[in-house]
Amino acid sequence: MRLLVVEDEPDLARQLVDALKEASYAVDVAYDGEEGHFLGDTEPYDAVVLDLGLPKMDGVTVLERWRRDGRNMPVLILTARDRWSDKVAGFDAGADDYVTKPFYVEEVLARLRALLRRSAGQASPELVYGPLRVDTRGARVTVDGNPVKLTSLEYRLLAYLMHHQGRVVSRTELVEHLYEQDFDRDSNTIEVFIGRLRKKLKVNLIQTVRGLGYCLTRPEGEQQVEVGQAGQ
Ligand code: CA
Repeated sequence: MRLLVVEDEPDLARQLVDALKEASYAVDVAYDGEEGHFLGDTEPYDAVVLDLGLPKMDGVTVLERWRRDGRNMPVLILTARDRWSDKVAGFDAGADDYVTKPFYVEEVLARLRALLRRSAGQASPELVYGPLRVDTRGARVTVDGNPVKLTSLEYRLLAYLMHHQGRVVSRTELVEHLYEQDFDRDSNTIEVFIGRLRKKLKVNLIQTVRGLGYCLTRPEGEQQVEVGQAGQ
């Protein structure tokens, strides 16, 4: 999952970015409305944290322009405590949720998790697929109840596939949603991470769809007999 933070206060921006990275997200940051608008317009973010009081272009305008141009990623706005009218303007511009300053970072994290799972059509913070369970609250992964230790990037990859279960995810899409903007992206490394993930999960849950990408698939034994896969 890849996020954008648009916040002009450097300390607050750093605090948010650190906490989000710690929670295994890829995070890009913009310090003014113009840059934020540009990034949100050109990069495929899974969610955005958008401050409303921004230099160069205010947050409500940024959001209105994204929505007008069909950018429909979930957006959490940050508003000042005494400005109730900001919340109204923010929601009317297309915001999905808000947090009032000052806030606890944990609240932003929890609200983002909720936005991400709702935009993926999931109601529960625990994503389940066959024997695999991903608890997005603590980035915990288990297979048949046994904990699996993943690196931050492996977790990000698995969480993305779990949020998009039921469809094929291309390598390009994975690259765009797993890495930060200034990261030296190479879609071949996705193959390497998929390999490591398969090894760690032990069960065969990630299927390669030739020429298209990857999708989650039930391990053998749970599959329909008619599929007719013989042996191992
Ligand atoms: Ca501000």
